[in-house]
Amino acid sequence: MNKHFLYFVIIGLTISICAVSQDLDYAKQQVKTLSSPKFHGRGYVKNGDGKAAAYLANEFKTFKLASFGSNYLQPYSFVVNTFPSAMEVSIDGKKLVPGIDFIANPASGNCSGTFDIVKIDSTLFTPSFTIQNILQRNYNNKFVILDTLGLGTNGYRKEVRDLFLYNFVKAAGIMLVRNGSLTFSVRMFNYDFGSLVVKRSSLPTTCSKITVNIKSELVEHKTNNLIGFVEGQVDTFIVFCAHYDHLGRMGKKTYYPGASDNASGTAMVMDFARKLTSETIKPRYSYAFMLFSGEEAGLLGSKYYVDNPLFPLTKIKILLNLDMMASGISGVNVFNGSNLPTEFAKLDSINKVDNLNLNLKAKAPSRSSDHYPFYEKKVKVLFFNTDDKSLGYHVPTDTFEALPFTVYENLYKLIFKYVEITNY
Ligand SMILES: [Zn+2]
Repeated sequence: MNKHFLYFVIIGLTISICAVSQDLDYAKQQVKTLSSPKFHGRGYVKNGDGKAAAYLANEFKTFKLASFGSNYLQPYSFVVNTFPSAMEVSIDGKKLVPGIDFIANPASGNCSGTFDIVKIDSTLFTPSFTIQNILQRNYNNKFVILDTLGLGTNGYRKEVRDLFLYNFVKAAGIMLVRNGSLTFSVRMFNYDFGSLVVKRSSLPTTCSKITVNIKSELVEHKTNNLIGFVEGQVDTFIVFCAHYDHLGRMGKKTYYPGASDNASGTAMVMDFARKLTSETIKPRYSYAFMLFSGEEAGLLGSKYYVDNPLFPLTKIKILLNLDMMASGISGVNVFNGSNLPTEFAKLDSINKVDNLNLNLKAKAPSRSSDHYPFYEKKVKVLFFNTDDKSLGYHVPTDTFEALPFTVYENLYKLIFKYVEITNY
């Protein structure tokens, strides 16, 4: 091997190592940015998702992605329940921390004041118990704490639960007791009473009085999907998609960063967009990059898109949905992989030949993310999701700092190679 050749090998290696590590650096930077407080959890309060959309559209622009219209935005709107301001609860003088000790039921209405507590738990269930025992009590201007632990043994669990969950007793508010961490969500309606969920370990031993100040607001929320593309030789598309929205804010102080869910999938889509716009050879199939909003409210962005597609859905060769991509400690789920054995076999083979050491698991379609509305319209889809039960889900601790990015680079390589094989 001569000296000059060695020199070029070293330069080549340096460039390729830089390119790979740069991908991870880029992705990390995106996740850090998107999960930072300035995007307010990419939800409905303070236009968090709108700010994220503007930021992402600007990234699309720097990549010089083409757009189907005059810009990348596909506007639509929906009604959603929000918590823009007060979120305070204390029981017998103990202040509870929002997001950690308690959360609002996402459909909670307004509630403020100090109330006597009526506790409904298994101690009420004596052998002579009937539902009438509960209904006869006075709930006027009272706050109910409902602990269903132990109710399962006497056949009344569902009856009692529904009675209070929907507040047929007309109490001022309802607080449901749960074990473990509290997973927040989104609803498109709200109740006319306060509805909270509290962690069992956060409840004081005595529960006689509760002071609550919860403000909810049902709003018409204007939002956008973002779509860009790289033109290929034919108008058939390989689609990369991810949802960029998350749960937003719950009260003034608490926001849900959604670093894993789904700043990480958004970052990988951006990573692919950045890479594929930098290629000099025109690909055979075109590439589309779709970032959906409204996922956490019920796949609203992807549902809107499939009803209002920017090119015929029949022109999608395959759609790859990326949701929660920053771990992989327990493996990588490939949803709908079991329905597409040929595609899964390609992934499996790349994984082995390229020594990527990914623990790939072929799964059923799953209704849990944005590929599903496409799947229902008979589009060929694969949904990638890194598995890690230890990561917080829909909690304020889903932060950039908590993400291990265990398999990010190898999963990126797997999908990239799969796309190359599909396209050439
Ligand atoms: Zn998600």
